[in-house]
Amino acid sequence: MPATYDIILIGAGCSSMQFLYQLRRYPGKRGKKLRVLVIEASQTAPRRTWCFWSSEEHTFSSFVSHSWNRVTFAGKSGERSQPVNPYTYQYIDGDHFFKKTWEEAKKDEYTVWLHATVTATKSVGNQTQVETSAGTFTGNKVYSSVSNPAKIESWKRKHGQFPGLWQHFKGWFVRFDESVIAPDAVTLMDFRVPQKDAAVFVYVLPFSPNYALVECTVFGKRLWADEDYDHILKAYIKETFGEKSYRCESVEKGRIPMTTSSFSSFVWDGTEAIGTAGGVVKPSTGYFFLRSERHTKRKVAEYFGEHGSQNIYSGVDSTNSSPPRFAFYDELLLGIIQQEPERVKPIMEALFSKNDFRHIFTFLDERSNLPGDARIFMTLPYIPFLKQLFAYISKKRI
Ligand SMILES: Cc1cc2nc3c(=O)[nH]c(=O)nc-3n(C[C@H](O)[C@H](O)[C@H](O)COP(=O)(O)OP(=O)(O)OC[C@H]3O[C@@H](n4cnc5c(N)ncnc54)[C@H](O)[C@@H]3O)c2cc1C
Repeated sequence: MPATYDIILIGAGCSSMQFLYQLRRYPGKRGKKLRVLVIEASQTAPRRTWCFWSSEEHTFSSFVSHSWNRVTFAGKSGERSQPVNPYTYQYIDGDHFFKKTWEEAKKDEYTVWLHATVTATKSVGNQTQVETSAGTFTGNKVYSSVSNPAKIESWKRKHGQFPGLWQHFKGWFVRFDESVIAPDAVTLMDFRVPQKDAAVFVYVLPFSPNYALVECTVFGKRLWADEDYDHILKAYIKETFGEKSYRCESVEKGRIPMTTSSFSSFVWDGTEAIGTAGGVVKPSTGYFFLRSERHTKRKVAEYFGEHGSQNIYSGVDSTNSSPPRFAFYDELLLGIIQQEPERVKPIMEALFSKNDFRHIFTFLDERSNLPGDARIFMTLPYIPFLKQLFAYISKKRI
C-alpha cells in the first residue's frame, strides 16, 4: 500500500463519506482519479439516522427513504399541525447511507481503506504525516472529522467541562399490533413531558400507522441514565397511543455537543476539520446532515481552487456560509438553556404557536433576512433574551 496520497480522510463517518461522495462526482474527471486514503478506527459504521427539512434537491436526495410534508408541535395549549411545503421533513437511514458509501469507496480503485486508529499528525513542508496504529502515511491534503482527544483533555484541564451543554437522546423504534399512529405528520417537539433540570421533549417519526421512532430528547448539562429516558418514553407512549400492545424493535441513542465555542483548538496539526470536529453542527438544534453536505461541498470546491463561484454542482449554492448574527442568536439561546432551562418550553411554545413553521425552518436554516429574524424574535418572551444580551455585553467588556 502506497505511503503518499493526494488526500487523506481521518474517520469514515458522515462528513468524510459526504466529502468523498462529492469529490468523486465533481464535474469533469478531476475528482475521480485522486488517490485517497480513508482511515477508520472502527470495523463497523456508526449506527444512526438523520432527519432534516429541505425545500430543494441535495446531493443525497436519492438516499431519503421517508419524507413528510406536515409537522406538529405540541405544548401547553395542545397540538398545532401545519403543512410545510415547499419544505419536506426527510429521513435518511444511516445503515443504508454507510452501506452505499462504504461499498462505493471500498470498490473504487483510487481509494484505499485502512482500518486503523490515528494517533498523531505532523506538518512536514506542504504535506501532513499521519501516524496510525498501522503505520505512517503522508497526505498532500488531510481532512479530519475527528478532534484530537489530547487537545480536548488539555483544554478541559484549563477551562473545565467541554462542551457545557449536550443534546442527548434515546429513541425506541416501536411496532404496534394495530394501527394507532397518524402517519402523515412528524411530531417535531412535544413538550408535554416532565422537564426536570433540562429542556425535555419527545419527537415522533411515524413511518406507518403501526411503526414509529419515538425519541426522548434533552437539552441539558447533565447526561442521563437509560432508565431516565425509558421512564418518559413508556409514559408518553401510553398517554399518546393508549394501552395498545407494542414492542420496541431497536433503539437509537446519542449525544451531540451544543456549543458556539470554536472547535479549531482541537484540530489535529496539519489537517482541515470537517463534520462535528469542524463545528458544523447547528449549536442550538443539533441539526447537522444538510449543513455538512453544504460544508463538504464547499471544501471539495475549495480543493479545486473554486473559491466564491456559484452553484458548482446543480442544487444549493455551495459557497455561502451563514452571516455571523446566527451564531450570536445561538449563543443567546444556549445561555438560556444552560442558566434557565425551564424557560425553553415557553420559548418554544411561543415560537411554534405564533409563527408559520416554514418561517421557523428558514430562520433555523440561517437563510432568513434581518426583518424576518426580527418578526420571529418579537413573538418570543423577551426577558430571558435580554438577560442573555446583558450577560453577553458584560462578558465582551471584561
Ligand atoms: C444517534 C445520532 C443521531 C443523530 N441524528 C441526527 C439527525 O437526525 N439529524 C442531523 O442533522 N444530525 C443528527 N445527528 C448529528 C450528526 O449527524 C452526527 O453526529 C454525524 O454523524 C456526525 O458526523 P461526523 O462525520 O462529524 O462524525 P462521525 O459520523 O461520528 O464520524 C467520525 C468517525 O471517525 C472515527 N474515528 C474516531 N476516532 C478515530 C481515530 N482516532 N482514528 C480513526 N478514526 C477515528 C469514528 O469511528 C467515526 O466513524 C445525530 C447524531 C447521533 C449520534
